[in-house]
Amino acid sequence: MKEQFDLLIRNATIIDGSGAARFDGDIGVRGDRIAKIGRLDRAKADVEVDASGKVAAPGFIDAHTHDDRLMLSAGEMAPKVSQGVTTVVAGNCGISLSPMPGGMKGAVPSPLDLLDNEGKWFRFPTFHAYVEELGAHPAATNCALLVGHMTLRVATMDNLDRPATATCTTNCRVRRRPKKSSRLPAR
Ligand SMILES: [Zn+2]
Repeated sequence: MKEQFDLLIRNATIIDGSGAARFDGDIGVRGDRIAKIGRLDRAKADVEVDASGKVAAPGFIDAHTHDDRLMLSAGEMAPKVSQGVTTVVAGNCGISLSPMPGGMKGAVPSPLDLLDNEGKWFRFPTFHAYVEELGAHPAATNCALLVGHMTLRVATMDNLDRPATATCTTNCRVRRRPKKSSRLPAR
């Protein structure tokens, strides 16, 4: 009996992520799992893709992004998945979309304006609230999230032109502390 898959990717140049040299082969997928890799000439599938001249590889991790807002405003993540990126690390450079208790007051200071220059997306009073929204509307990519120190400064201090007082620093530390449940299920 012929082997049956949901999806067959044929004639790909496969880089399997193990460090081994690339090789030509076919990939059989059942459900959301790779079931077999090799020469699957006799196998059949509901959907077959000819990947001649193309590389099949594990998804890339984009380790430096500012996708905090993009994951919510354009969750299909086309700029990333179209390049093979399946995981993003957001909140780099000290800027994250949350926490911002009370929302953004006044103009969005640089470089936070990189995430949203109008300020309306800074609407999550806690980091946990942001994670919950992502969980309710998951983006197409996996993500790892950082809490930005600049966001904490803006959320805590009236005047950014001076050093933080002890009280500000304490407030920053309290806001940074994650809840145990601030985790998204892996995709
Ligand atoms: Zn950056």
